[in-house]
Amino acid sequence: MFARDFAGYANELPIVEWPGGARLALSISVNFEEGAERSVADGDPESEQHGEAVIRTGPGVRNTMNESYYEYGSRVGIWRLLDVFDKHSVKVTFLACGLALEKNPKAAAAITHRGHEPCSHGYKWTDHCSLSVEEQRRDMLRSIEAIERTTGQRPVGWYPRAADVHSRELAVEEGGFLYDMITYNEDLPYFVQVKGKRFLTIPYSLDCNDSRYWRGIVEPEQFLRYLKATFDQLYEEAQQHPKMMSVGLHCRSSGLPARARAVDQFIGYAKQFPGVWFARRVDIARWWIEKLG
Ligand SMILES: [Zn+2]
Repeated sequence: MFARDFAGYANELPIVEWPGGARLALSISVNFEEGAERSVADGDPESEQHGEAVIRTGPGVRNTMNESYYEYGSRVGIWRLLDVFDKHSVKVTFLACGLALEKNPKAAAAITHRGHEPCSHGYKWTDHCSLSVEEQRRDMLRSIEAIERTTGQRPVGWYPRAADVHSRELAVEEGGFLYDMITYNEDLPYFVQVKGKRFLTIPYSLDCNDSRYWRGIVEPEQFLRYLKATFDQLYEEAQQHPKMMSVGLHCRSSGLPARARAVDQFIGYAKQFPGVWFARRVDIARWWIEKLG
């Protein structure tokens, strides 16, 4: 059962003060998918076509230009972003595909070594809504095993690409997860009932997301302005009701020099304000469950 709920908190938001009396929790998530995308070299029937390389290839044909575009995220982008986070002493959540981690063990180890959280983004970077339940289960369990083996940490968060009505039940029944993030419908975490159990979802965001570079934004300055405007609005509201801001990044996108600079500048901007808690999703989940669970 995956019931829709249009009422939610119905404008009666819970007052949950974040650690240290913070008013705004700021969650940065970095998608690490490079190496897990569709690839003829990996036995997929066609190459990944989504990306910034303009060449498209037919079924069964490798798209070496797009392959190379993805490799930038894994070879260069992730390290640049890790350095930006270190510069500001900020900890984030990596939405990691198991296969991407296996192909870059040094980056996998660096994620947890530098204090970040690995959250499961599936094993392959594939639309779960196009898989059978059994295939989804296999992909989920394989991702958990790969993430634990490569990062040393079992993931407690679940964000399959293109989740469907089965994703949450699988997470609760067999994933052993603390939270999922397959929703975009609130500025705060909330509990859902799944098969008689209470389960936490921590909504993600598609607007404060660098995927917008793939939909027309060229200027990092525009993305930066959008992030700042979201921050300003939520920060003001958070003086009444503590809130959460979610930012989504990708290694092959925000790992590019100009775009990483926008991330750097945004973090620097947000750091000027008192009462902002830069938090990994696991920290938000534990806090919410402790206070409201
Ligand atoms: Zn993703």
